[in-house]
Amino acid sequence: MVSLAFREREEELGRSDYGPFRLEGHPSGIALLWFDDPGRKVNLLDSESLPALRRVLEALRQRSDSAYPRALVLLSAKEEQFIAGADVAEFDGLEDPSEAGAKAREAQQLFEEISHLPYVTVAAINGPCLGGGTELALAMRYRVASNSRKFTIGLPEVQLGILPGFGGTQRLPRLIGLVPALDLLLTGRSLDSRRAYRIGLVDAVLPHERFSERAVQWTEALLQDLPAVKRRGPPLPMRIMETVAPIRNRILSQARSNVLRQTGGHYPAPLEIVRVLRATWGASSETGLEVEREAVAKLLFTPESKNLRRIFALREEAKRKPETARAREVAHVAVMGAGAMGGEIAYLFSSRNVRARLRDLKPEPLLRSLAHARSLFEREVSRGRLTKAEMEQALARIEPSLDLSGLKSADLALEAVVEDLPVKQALFRELEGLVPERCVFATNTSSLSVRAMAKGLRNPGRVVGMHFFNPATRMPLVEVIRTDISDAAALETVIALTRRLGKTPVLVADAPGFLVNRVLMPYLGEAVALVERGQPVRAVDHALRDFGMPVGPLELLDEIGLDVARKVAHVLRDAYGDRLPPTTLIDRLVAAGELGKKSELGFYRYEAGRRKGVNQEIEASVPPEGPLTPPQIVDRLLDVMVNEAAMALEEHVVPRPEDVDLAMVLGTGFPPFRGGLLRHADTVGAGAIVERLARRQQEGAPVGPSGRLQQMALSGRTFYKE
Ligand code: NAD
Repeated sequence: MVSLAFREREEELGRSDYGPFRLEGHPSGIALLWFDDPGRKVNLLDSESLPALRRVLEALRQRSDSAYPRALVLLSAKEEQFIAGADVAEFDGLEDPSEAGAKAREAQQLFEEISHLPYVTVAAINGPCLGGGTELALAMRYRVASNSRKFTIGLPEVQLGILPGFGGTQRLPRLIGLVPALDLLLTGRSLDSRRAYRIGLVDAVLPHERFSERAVQWTEALLQDLPAVKRRGPPLPMRIMETVAPIRNRILSQARSNVLRQTGGHYPAPLEIVRVLRATWGASSETGLEVEREAVAKLLFTPESKNLRRIFALREEAKRKPETARAREVAHVAVMGAGAMGGEIAYLFSSRNVRARLRDLKPEPLLRSLAHARSLFEREVSRGRLTKAEMEQALARIEPSLDLSGLKSADLALEAVVEDLPVKQALFRELEGLVPERCVFATNTSSLSVRAMAKGLRNPGRVVGMHFFNPATRMPLVEVIRTDISDAAALETVIALTRRLGKTPVLVADAPGFLVNRVLMPYLGEAVALVERGQPVRAVDHALRDFGMPVGPLELLDEIGLDVARKVAHVLRDAYGDRLPPTTLIDRLVAAGELGKKSELGFYRYEAGRRKGVNQEIEASVPPEGPLTPPQIVDRLLDVMVNEAAMALEEHVVPRPEDVDLAMVLGTGFPPFRGGLLRHADTVGAGAIVERLARRQQEGAPVGPSGRLQQMALSGRTFYKE
């Protein structure tokens, strides 16, 4: 009855008018508002859906019968997908801060109206709820979460160099308190349903099976007994603390100093977040929203935000392209070698529901890998992402083995054995007789030729490089190496599998050092050369850290291991001649057993894994040279990197500067706010780089500016077209 009347009237109003929304009456008098963005996998708030949402509100307001609805429940019609946020691509179309401010104002007003609706409003969140999605949910009176693993809620705007501009900076602290709100706003991290419930961001967690039905039932129960859901809000001591101005100001000042320490002041957005919270605390919502939108409008046009959004867009693109229509299903992999890399890779497979037979020649690495996988899964259990039973099942998917048995159903064999070409060739040849025809061969080699590894196989087209970075569980990049004869199905299978593991694939040609190590090595080599010429170890590392690198180059060498780095440097020297400086100092350190962190001595001294100061002998043993300034040090190291990247582009190792930038950000932590190595080079200008490289060559440097850089300098062109 009620529902019929309701439905009829919705039809009168014309459903198409609601764009991606659909209104549905429910017998209990609750209006269900379904969101289903057509043609997209996720729901986004954009220039179509926001006005459509306004039309829905208008229609509800115009209803003559004031009894309807008793409540409004916002649901997503997409399975385990709520609202992924605002459409970031639309930000780029904004002309200037005033247009951005006007857009934010429209959304703010809409959400403000929603927050004042005269009936109960509930966001029924069945999956990822991010950015603008969270701000919309915050504007509703209640939020219920599904206990699905896919559920996640947060405000990641800071990671794009902006802040939530649809009221999020105002509503979040009011709901959960200043300290937890600062944490979420400044890190941009998102929470699972348990944590979101614990801090009061959601009011209930319901089972994900038949979630929408349960959310409606929950709302019905709420209508029966409104006080039943206790608004928890921030705990009392926190609320008291926040109201005392000196304490509140201290919390905010502390947050600001933490931001400055962690970001070196390179990121304006987190500083703005702190400023906005300070300026708007206790202010009217009108003032609060005004300060918020002015801040977001300004941030959107900072170079930092533009660069962070570019990297974000490149990552999104890499999730879709290249397409993988010819990829084969992978249910069973064979991982050869259970060392540092193989062990973690087997864990990754098992965590994504892929059976991994893990083979090594010795039992110790197998046992170590299994223990490590257990500790990683236990962390998932402690975070509530896995049950104990699921952990045991996942561990059982890793099958340790000392021989080459049990490979008859392997869809992919990935080798991560010692970096030795004949060993890898022999292994692939042996495997060829043991696995099915369809099985793809992948190699995790860092420096050897993938093509050479395929030599002598009956089907060499099945070999593809799958180059993970260390530690494989944390590093987001995989270089997918295509040889001149890799077949499309093998290549696409590896790309699809990379994505399934949650990593970003970058397709790279089979050239020595591939892309990332090739571009990184001259940089590391130059850092060592500077130390050899008398620059203090700390000065070199500090300069690059201040530039925004996550670790200094010499610290990084100690982490990698000087013996490992030396080996890679030699492979590259063999391939590219003396473009890389000689490794004299590294040779000496390695000969003395000073291998970096693992031997407690490298460029620095270590005790129990902690850095304790510089290895004095290195600095004592070199003649003092006039000190370089930090910008000079940065230029020296980055110039050779840019030069090498330009040569890699000339040689078609990757087709576009975008590929270099994405790979260097994800593979080396090159500061994303600079947009990547070549985006940064464009801001410096090819002319300046060429001039310095040429001068250095005259002074005896082994290599001068590449042909491409020289042409760019002459014509005034940049790596990027715009
Ligand atoms: P590691 O020395 O830690 O492990 C290699 C393991 O392979 C050892 O446990 C060894 O017993 C085993 N092994 C040797 N021959 C084997 C065979 N025929 N069958 C099965 N197991 C065999 O080495 P790692 O650091 O894990 O590196 C492995 C591969 O990954 C290398 O090709 C390396 O270049 C590459 N890689 C290493 C890193 C890194 O930073 N460590 C990063 C990316 C790629």
